[in-house]
Amino acid sequence: LLIMIISIPTSVCVTIVVGYFMAKKALKPVDQIRRAAVKISSSNLDEKIDITGRRDELGRLAETFNAMIGRLKDSFQRINQFSIDVSHELKTPLTILKGETEVALRKEREKRDYQMLLMSNLEEIDRMSCIIDDLLLLSKADTKDIKLNIEEVSLRDLVMDVCMDMKVVADRKDVELQVGEMEDVRLKGDELKLRRMLLNIVENGIKYSHAGGKVSVSSYKNGEYAKIDVRDDGIGISEEDIKYIFDRFYRADRSRKRESGSGLGLSISRWIAEAHKGNIEVTSQPAQGSMFTIKLPI
Ligand code: ADP
Repeated sequence: LLIMIISIPTSVCVTIVVGYFMAKKALKPVDQIRRAAVKISSSNLDEKIDITGRRDELGRLAETFNAMIGRLKDSFQRINQFSIDVSHELKTPLTILKGETEVALRKEREKRDYQMLLMSNLEEIDRMSCIIDDLLLLSKADTKDIKLNIEEVSLRDLVMDVCMDMKVVADRKDVELQVGEMEDVRLKGDELKLRRMLLNIVENGIKYSHAGGKVSVSSYKNGEYAKIDVRDDGIGISEEDIKYIFDRFYRADRSRKRESGSGLGLSISRWIAEAHKGNIEVTSQPAQGSMFTIKLPI
């Protein structure tokens, strides 16, 4: 009886104490995860849960949690960079508008001077308006808020139409715009959007060609796909830049910012191709030229 009176409470106490410490040790990673989650905010995404060496469920939970924080960090960084780019982009035309208006207001001027000023201001306003329209389109594309107006499209008509419109731009730059092989393929798509995509790419071909250069466009059927090749013999794109040219606001030659467009053209084109379940590929050699291939399912 005496042995039992002593040993039972003792073993109960020992079990409670040992159980408490074991449970505490086993649940330590859960507490670590909780503390990390409390600390995380948009400005502190470097926080990681450190459970080195654990190969059990908690270890995997921590790994998943760390991967999620990594993805959130990437998204926040991209949003930040995007806001910086948008501000820079809109700041330049606004600075020009402000500067020109201030200079004009310094003294009384001729009617002609005011007309010139308004014309120049209108150019900057158009520029900002284009950037905002493009941004709106891309934001709507991100939230899948755009419906494609699907109808039957003749690829040959589309290419001929775009080349006709671009002929004036090419002539102005003394670039030869050539229509090559032209197989007629019919596909289902949003004609206006496809037109915009092709206009962007042909316009780039002309814009980044030297005077006397050549841009050729051809369309053909390739298995289940219709393909449009836009080839130019212009300045080409370097290997480092080619990875980024479809990113928003990316321009290979930052110093020629104002001569090139808003840097959104290729992002929009790629979105249009992908919305049609197709894609755009590019191959290029610096100083020799580039070839953009648009691939659309028939
Ligand atoms: P941008 O309005 O500046 O032309 P895009 O999104 O259309 O913007 O193109 C992004 C960048 O890709 C351009 O600034 C340019 O550096 C590069 N690029 C696009 N097309 C060509 C091309 N045909 N030849 C050389 N560089 C090109």
